[in-house]
Amino acid sequence: MNGIVYLTGAGPGDYRLLTLRGKEVLGRADVVVYDYLADSRLLEFAPPTAEKIYVGKKAANHTLPQDQISELLVAKAKEGKTVVRLKGGDPFVFGRGGEESRLLHDAGIPFEIIPGVTSAIGAPAYAGIPVTDRTAASSFAVVTGHEDPTKAESSIHWDKLATAVDTLVFLMGVHNLPAITEKLMANGRPADTPAALVRWGTKPVQETLTGTVGDIAEKAAACQFKPPAVFIVGDVVAPRPSMQWFDTKPLFGLSIAVTRTHAQAPALTQQLEELGARCLEVPTIRITPPTDDYEALDAAIDHLSDYDWLIFTSTNGVDAFFRRLHGHQLDSRALGKAKLAAIGSATAKALEPYGLTADVVPSAYCAEGLAAALEPLLNGRERILIPRAKEARSILPDTLRRYGASVDVCEAYCTLPASENGEALKDLLQHKALDVVTFTSSSAVRSFLSLTEASSEALQDITFACIGPITARTCQEAGLKKIITAKTYTTKGLAECIRDWRLKE
Ligand code: SAH
Repeated sequence: MNGIVYLTGAGPGDYRLLTLRGKEVLGRADVVVYDYLADSRLLEFAPPTAEKIYVGKKAANHTLPQDQISELLVAKAKEGKTVVRLKGGDPFVFGRGGEESRLLHDAGIPFEIIPGVTSAIGAPAYAGIPVTDRTAASSFAVVTGHEDPTKAESSIHWDKLATAVDTLVFLMGVHNLPAITEKLMANGRPADTPAALVRWGTKPVQETLTGTVGDIAEKAAACQFKPPAVFIVGDVVAPRPSMQWFDTKPLFGLSIAVTRTHAQAPALTQQLEELGARCLEVPTIRITPPTDDYEALDAAIDHLSDYDWLIFTSTNGVDAFFRRLHGHQLDSRALGKAKLAAIGSATAKALEPYGLTADVVPSAYCAEGLAAALEPLLNGRERILIPRAKEARSILPDTLRRYGASVDVCEAYCTLPASENGEALKDLLQHKALDVVTFTSSSAVRSFLSLTEASSEALQDITFACIGPITARTCQEAGLKKIITAKTYTTKGLAECIRDWRLKE
């Protein structure tokens, strides 16, 4: 039985512009054959077990020639596989989707087409340029800019095109810009017609250059404007200043490293991206089972009913504890009458999937805040269990013991440097590619410093954004200079703190 090939539009760059249908077929793909322009995060929609084959094309540098790509699709489908052929933008807009589908048809392979948001419309939209407009444009055309306009036999009817269509969008046209604009003017398009180039549209690194048909080629040459970009010609470009919405976001243009664990990074990344930042996820820490063993935690689990309180100081602690509890063939009911305290809102939320609600969440999300919130609730005879990381501060158990409680601190997990990211981090620092580095824990700070082996001088241009005062103090003690600290100790507070800092800059 033959499989099937889905020729799928990946959208122009922002991976969230993938269609629901595209996401659905990716979710059950056996093989993903993908291009240069697709965001690597799109691949995360495919099962981890799916075979992912890069056939990207970078201008003249074809990794796999087109006929071999088609052969590959046919071969994989003949093995009975579900193949997703992911293409930038829309597969039928200068995407060779036509050729691939014809070959699949000839080979007797079932296929489906999943349209995508084309860069011809998506990139202008993110630059605040509508391709049609009731007052400015009643028609638009998408044109290849790849063809050398000076060649005698052109497939483009320049004489008709230049003035017949209100908005012209050229793809693959950056190199031919002087010739394209010449051709337009020679065929009657006025030199003062507004024009724009949008590079890497819909991505946080989007760049826009505006001018007129008469001067844009010169302007682009002067600033060495590089592909990939769409070139837009028409009156619709003029009102851009009042229609910008993406490149005016507060964190637009800022490159921010997210150093928390791979599992936790996306929640912060999403908030920063919403504010327009470009995020680079480079976890400096990873969570592992306890370095010693589970002896203390296992003993505590065996006597869970002895505890009056369970205190969780991180979402990692919650997940590690319940994983171990489930390993003992137990579930939340084993907690019995014990009350629950969580250090902050995220930790409290992490209890919810286990059917639990925190009895206490302090208003200040730190060990000191938690101890203060617990003090009036303790009578001095309680038994308290704190499952957490080994290297955590002793302030919480020490304070609770001072209140008279008997406190067991058990290692539930361990935080280790994510050494696999050391090189990537060094590379980013060397290329001065980071404006801001975010830290949501002191251990992330310490690992960052040990992995990068960077001196504080080498880091002096970077702003370090910390989730709270403890993390900020760790930065200070390491000699870091530009430190900003969230007012509320959550990822939301952290994102807001970076926004407020940027607005003041
Ligand atoms: N099928 C794609 C186009 C492929 S041709 C689509 O529908 O978008 C490749 C050209 O698309 C590039 O040379 C460039 O002109 C344009 N392009 C693709 N992604 C782009 C982006 N994010 N920003 C600007 N132009 C882009």
